Amino acid sequence: MENHCAICALAGSLVKARLLVLFLPFIFAIHLSGQNAPALPPDGGGAYQVDSGPCLSAVQRAEIAAGLVANTAALAREGKLPPVSRSVVQFDWPVQMAPGLGWNNFYTVNNFVDHELVAGVREYECGQRTYDGHLGIDIDLWPYPWYQKENNLARVVAAAPGVIIGKEDGNQDESCSWGNGGAWNAIYIRHADGSAAWYGHLKRNSLTAKPVGASVAKGEYLGIVASSGYSTWPHLHFEVYRAEPYVYDNLIDPYWGECNFTNFESWWADQQPYRQPTVNAVLTHNAPPEIGCVQDENPYFSDYFTPGDMAYAAVYFRDQLQGMVSTLRIRTPNGAIWNEWTHISPEDYTSSWWYWGIGLPTSGPFGTWSFEVTFNNETHAHFFEYESLVSTASVEASPVAVFPNPARETLSIQGLQERPVIVEIYSAAGQLLFRQEAGEEGIRLSGLAPGMYLVKIMDGEAVYTSRVVKAD
Ligand SMILES: [Zn+2]
Repeated sequence: MENHCAICALAGSLVKARLLVLFLPFIFAIHLSGQNAPALPPDGGGAYQVDSGPCLSAVQRAEIAAGLVANTAALAREGKLPPVSRSVVQFDWPVQMAPGLGWNNFYTVNNFVDHELVAGVREYECGQRTYDGHLGIDIDLWPYPWYQKENNLARVVAAAPGVIIGKEDGNQDESCSWGNGGAWNAIYIRHADGSAAWYGHLKRNSLTAKPVGASVAKGEYLGIVASSGYSTWPHLHFEVYRAEPYVYDNLIDPYWGECNFTNFESWWADQQPYRQPTVNAVLTHNAPPEIGCVQDENPYFSDYFTPGDMAYAAVYFRDQLQGMVSTLRIRTPNGAIWNEWTHISPEDYTSSWWYWGIGLPTSGPFGTWSFEVTFNNETHAHFFEYESLVSTASVEASPVAVFPNPARETLSIQGLQERPVIVEIYSAAGQLLFRQEAGEEGIRLSGLAPGMYLVKIMDGEAVYTSRVVKAD
């Protein structure tokens, strides 16, 4: 028996040694590739930070609290409110990414509940990540909060099942500074144990059609994250009370930590860590992206480049902490590393972003390239098309031209070998919008919104690509 085991152990260690020999050079190569990459200062970016202030004024909060108590009394009289039970409420996360966004993550957690009643601020972990008197949790959309809001990409869902005890809708939802907000759009849910959650700053006319008194399931759609009321950017304000009346003495901070003085355990089914370093998105742009208030946010998303273009490769982080290293790589269509560099976070950020202007090699190779980022032991990639303006078998001066440019209704084509040809129209972001056959009459642009498009003309074996501006 003993012998047998000794042989087993020997065989096992031999196998391990063999595996190590096999894997060592590989591990070493990966290690070296990251180590050797130079640090390259970004061309722009930094913290995405806006002034914080009260999500509700004291008057607003008192009015809401009184209205909700009146509603629950009326619902109880009508028999629409189940009696309070001793069930334990456990929250799931109250925001969800709409399908199709394709980012790794779409939010950061900015302000927690302030537990310091006298002076200064202190959240559940005894840190400063809140502002004075904050009674809820702010879940900020990040990056491109206004783009997300406009396109309904961040949904508010019920963190726990319950009954709708209040709804406010119809208020403007593009607040950019504190104090100008007026009333917010919000929905209020009472849970089986008598506790209640407030979901505020929602998008106008996005609230569930269910009326006050209706039940909602955990995870059910409630509305869209926006910036109604006292708000500077699209975010969800999530505020919880253990019971009526909705006053500070009944406040709950769902996060358990040693400086939580409102309750003694987490109300989350699975409490997220205090910091969660994450790459939210890896994107490419055709101009330096602009982050700001609704009219100042210009993403310049683009996944399509041609020689001579500057591609802006950008990374958007949640909880990028001081000293954390990101390794960034650009790969050619065959997967080879064309460029690799590192970035070291200069400080702690809740929401941060950095971008680099990239001049792709004018001689190619052409095809689908990728921009990838390794951060906190995870790698995320974004693909983009890099095409020559004229990608023909024999690359001569392009005989094909389109005009006028900018164009209104139609675009004429000059220099074709054959007619008709197949034409594809792409958005500036590289998304195929439609395909048409074009003959003598040219390319029809009616129906396209003003803006920049890519026109791809398939003339027999040859493919020609042009950028065209559709005028008003
Ligand atoms: Zn808030």
